[in-house]
Amino acid sequence: MIITLNSTANPSEVKRALIDHGLWVEELVGQGRVQFRVESHSAQVPIEVVQALPGVELVTVRASTHPRVDQQAKVVEVGAHKIGVGQPTAYFAGPCSVESEDHVRRLAAKLRGYGVKFLRGGAFKPRTSPYAFQGHGEPALKWMKKAAAENGMALVTELMGSEERDLVAEFADLIQIGSRNMHNYALLKHVAGAKKPIFLKRGMAATVEEWMGAGEYLLLHGAPAVVFCERGIRSFDPSTRNLLDLSAVAILAGLGQPVVVDPSHAAGRRDLVGPLARAAVAVGAHGVMIETHDAPGHALSDGPQAVLPEQLEQILKGLDALSAGSKA
Ligand code: PEP
Ligand code: MN
Repeated sequence: MIITLNSTANPSEVKRALIDHGLWVEELVGQGRVQFRVESHSAQVPIEVVQALPGVELVTVRASTHPRVDQQAKVVEVGAHKIGVGQPTAYFAGPCSVESEDHVRRLAAKLRGYGVKFLRGGAFKPRTSPYAFQGHGEPALKWMKKAAAENGMALVTELMGSEERDLVAEFADLIQIGSRNMHNYALLKHVAGAKKPIFLKRGMAATVEEWMGAGEYLLLHGAPAVVFCERGIRSFDPSTRNLLDLSAVAILAGLGQPVVVDPSHAAGRRDLVGPLARAAVAVGAHGVMIETHDAPGHALSDGPQAVLPEQLEQILKGLDALSAGSKA
């Protein structure tokens, strides 16, 4: 945003008024009239409010680079379930990797009892090591579909490569694009053609604008809706696996974008999953995704961050109470 003052304005007074509204401004010199540039880390203030300040002649705003995201519906429908503004907190849970037919069925039945409406689980896994378990692939999709259908849940699973798009789209209700692929624009364009809503994880070093730009690719190329998922960004501190960026969640929620938080990959530590899930709901997240396993020590991936089903039940009860409290 560029603010141009009129010829009789007192620049110091206008600057103070802008700061009062939470705007970080820098004076542009050598432009004739006095102008201020508003930094992007400023509070969101309606243009009309700035325009109405004494001494302001003109306010110009750069066109958005993600108009389709800006205009997308505030509530995303996934089958019979909804995620977004004004909806009950959406609970996503399940194992990191789908391990066997029996395992995912047993787990799904438990999760349903806790109010989980979205069954998560990886069939194609993005692993740092090529020697680590890569997922069971197509059979895992079938096992998971059965488990989700038996329990009236929607199925969320990751698509890693374009070759698997039609296969994954046949089973998934919501197609997950993982953190590592948020910047893979060829994949974004291709998956959009499946015409399914997309669960877009934030790249681990992506800015909020880049994340919304990735969402724009999806909507421009045919995806009906995008749910954003914050899963932690890279930081300097090895105390947690990543750093949960609650500011980004509050920004997206403030814009009315459907946004979910994954405290499991953010923290990498099961003891922090509950506290971070509560923080997520407190700043406006519309859902949480939590990795759950009944025997984390035997999990084929991400065991240390998985919570037990009984722990999940307690976490979700706490979130229900938090939401009920904020409405009271
Ligand atoms: C996952 O959710 O299974 C996953 C791999 O997450 P991320 O892309 O956030 O690392
Ligand atoms: Mn995982």
